[in-house]
Amino acid sequence: MQDNIKRLYCDFNATHPLREKVKEAMWAVFETVGNPSAVHTHGRKMRDLIERARRDMADMLKIDIDRLVFCSGATEANNLVLLSFDGPVIVSAIEHPSVLQVRGDAQICPVTTNGTVCLDELERLLKSCSQKALVCIMAANNETGVIQPIDDIAALVHLYGGFFHCDTVQAVGRMPVCWRAIDSFAISAHKLGGPFGIGILGLNASIPLHFPFKGGGQERSFRPGTENVWGIVGMAKAMELALQENWNTTATQIYWLEHYITTVCPEAIVIGKNAQRIPNTSMISMPNLDNTQQMIQFDLKGISVSNGSACSSGKVRKSAVLQAMNIDPDVARGCIRISLGALTQDQDMQQLANTWYKIHTRNNEQKQQENAKDLFGLSVDNAL
Ligand code: PMP
Repeated sequence: MQDNIKRLYCDFNATHPLREKVKEAMWAVFETVGNPSAVHTHGRKMRDLIERARRDMADMLKIDIDRLVFCSGATEANNLVLLSFDGPVIVSAIEHPSVLQVRGDAQICPVTTNGTVCLDELERLLKSCSQKALVCIMAANNETGVIQPIDDIAALVHLYGGFFHCDTVQAVGRMPVCWRAIDSFAISAHKLGGPFGIGILGLNASIPLHFPFKGGGQERSFRPGTENVWGIVGMAKAMELALQENWNTTATQIYWLEHYITTVCPEAIVIGKNAQRIPNTSMISMPNLDNTQQMIQFDLKGISVSNGSACSSGKVRKSAVLQAMNIDPDVARGCIRISLGALTQDQDMQQLANTWYKIHTRNNEQKQQENAKDLFGLSVDNAL
């Protein structure tokens, strides 16, 4: 398909473009052969690559090396923890489906209208558990960017003797995370500018987990299977670069965009406006304009934004996150998510804002024409 428009990508929370330096690091491994479990020289070279990457990432996160278990991504990491824990589970109402949909017996902790977990409710749920509970709460929400009070949650969970699993997918490199306060965590490489299909389950030995997979004993049998060496090396490079990023410009761009849109369109609503958010994310509702229509109009103008979390079939579900925040369904239907990269330029924001304005005014004009048509029809009917 011929595409002459210079396309603008504003969907970094869905996935980050593969970084050039990551490609270079991975190319070097593509040229190498050997199963990392083989004891000959080829195999040992591959093993070295894995263990060097593990060491580097443990140093970057300032945690013990044996906490890092490689797996296929955050969906698998979240599922593994939830399915391996034999006890009561509490999850927040705004979790990614890879947490929310895993355990039918999970108790759901509600959130405030700003999208942060209700700590009083969490305490009530923890108190009601007869055994040590596993609590799964994400660090930052993928749709709204709202940051959770991770340290307070960790302290509360530990006060009641529970274990805290944190989905940190949207947080890595975008906000400080105290990894030591968390008992287990999930990281996904492709959100950092690394490859698809590789991630980390960060484990603390104290969590009692019974892992379901059986196989060749790789990853200390927590997650057996021949390791994705290319992916692991790529992920280490991506993490190194992601952790060096400076978000000051992006935060200003998001602030400017929200200010511009709510000025030209006073009925526009910024979701989670009063909450602390990661610097690259804004969810804005343009009331009276369905988000799928908006997304298509942005797409026709060469801009990729998100109209909600897409599942594998490309279908868009009603946002469970917005429902949990008690957002009016009409407002929720008009919500678009903009998520930027650290290198998004000011002129890109200008292009996005201009397009927003055009879509909004065109929609208003169409509405006025429809209203005028209705009025005209009414008067004709009345005259007959
Ligand atoms: N958790 C969150 C918060 C996410 O945003 C995503 C990706 N949309 C996932 C988990 C799943 O990650 P992966 O693609 O690595 O399975």
